[in-house]
Amino acid sequence: MSVTAAANAAYIVAALLFIMSLAGLSKHESARSGVVYGIAGMVTALVATVVVAVQDAPATGIVLLFGAMVIGASIGLWRARVVEMTGIPELIALLHSFVGLAAVLVGWNGYLEHEPYATLSLERIHHGEVFVGVFIGAVTFTGSIVAFLKLSARIKSAPLVLPGKNYLNLGALVAFFLLTVLFIADPNIWLLVLVTAVALALGWHLVASIGGGDMPVVVSMLNSYSGWAAAAAGFLLSNNLLIVVGALVGSSGAYLSYIMCQAMNRSFISVIAGGFGIEAAAGDETEYGEHREVDAEGVAELLANASSVVITPGYGMAVAQAQYPVADLVRRLRERGVDVRFGIHPVAGRLPGHMNVLLAEAKVPYDIVLELDEINDDFADTSVVLVIGANDTVNPSAAEDPSSPIAGMPVLHVWESSDVIVFKRSMAAGYAGVQNPLFFRENTQMLFGDAKQRVEDILRAL
Ligand code: NDP
Repeated sequence: MSVTAAANAAYIVAALLFIMSLAGLSKHESARSGVVYGIAGMVTALVATVVVAVQDAPATGIVLLFGAMVIGASIGLWRARVVEMTGIPELIALLHSFVGLAAVLVGWNGYLEHEPYATLSLERIHHGEVFVGVFIGAVTFTGSIVAFLKLSARIKSAPLVLPGKNYLNLGALVAFFLLTVLFIADPNIWLLVLVTAVALALGWHLVASIGGGDMPVVVSMLNSYSGWAAAAAGFLLSNNLLIVVGALVGSSGAYLSYIMCQAMNRSFISVIAGGFGIEAAAGDETEYGEHREVDAEGVAELLANASSVVITPGYGMAVAQAQYPVADLVRRLRERGVDVRFGIHPVAGRLPGHMNVLLAEAKVPYDIVLELDEINDDFADTSVVLVIGANDTVNPSAAEDPSSPIAGMPVLHVWESSDVIVFKRSMAAGYAGVQNPLFFRENTQMLFGDAKQRVEDILRAL
């Protein structure tokens, strides 16, 4: 069997392992084996690709290849070891930008250096692939950089509202189609320069136009774009595995974006079209009145007398790394016969499944971790709700105020319970920048301070 045939066989094995990995990752119980399948698939793919590349490469090529692999693997290992759980979303956004950049470079390389094809139609197909690959890659590249800047709070998360923003996006798409036709007819380098510039600007503008509350969809959308960018690169490099994997990432990312949009009651098309039809929010002048405060001892007393408790964690629990004391608190309360459950909002935190990962890390049993739909009708029969570092996901204005920027997003109806305790450090707004009327309700008390320290205080008081 030739080396190329063996590599193709290895690619099929790798593709199957990636599909098994996706299947495993869809459930808590099998997530660990999903990761193992993913690693095995990646090792298989990498070894096969390197063997094929080394086969007839000159010595300098081999040195460059291994040099790049050592540098890339070292940076990857280092970042993965030091990254905080709260930094994962922005790291993922940055990794998506690399996929985009790689697709642009592969596209340019495919244009500058390729063996002439036997027929004109094959040549034209090749130039079409170059153009599409560069376009998707460049949109992914700048879009992911803006997402990285927004998620790491290096730039404001509020949407950029340029005059005629929808026409700008539409204009860029029309320009892309026209340039593609011109390029296929006459592959002039300046057309490629132009489409690269248009796509870089479009990616930047698309993501900059999307507001804070809709960022979860952007992360999954860029995940999808990076998949299509990889698939486009796969066509250019005639690499079947890259096409298959790109399509898997592209379609699963698109499906995840769709699920997230449904969870947030947003139109899929309006979000992927850069906030099409979403108006900028007017400033909030509402007077909410006074909030009430409580201390850890007061909360401990409330919990000691409660029959049922629901905990709704949010991004603040991740920042404070409060999941371990929270898990201890749950254990203690359950030993006392209190019914304790978690209510997880689909966009709580900064990453799909963020809260589930943290709770699994702290060994909270899966069967008491419920989703929004499963718990929302139970709040009226709940004695105490502990809102630990959550804000937008428990904001009643989403359900009650049609003029709110997050209007229509399903939220956890925590205010229906007898008592609500909100753990946060100040009265500051949540990620979407909207004030939360929950904090001023009669049955709500604020427990200020770092969530981890406050939960530890409660544990001591108990
Ligand atoms: P929010 O981001 O709305 O609010 C988190 C709250 O935690 C803040 O109000 C903050 O208040 C508090 N907090 C921060 N640090 C601490 C700390 N150390 N101790 C105690 N409290 C702390 O949280 P949610 O999880 O409710 O909502 C998620 C938001 O993020 C949504 O708007 C969602 O759309 C968006 N988003 C979600 C993504 C996802 O995929 N899940 C991705 C991108 C965005 P204070 O500063 O006063 O302490």
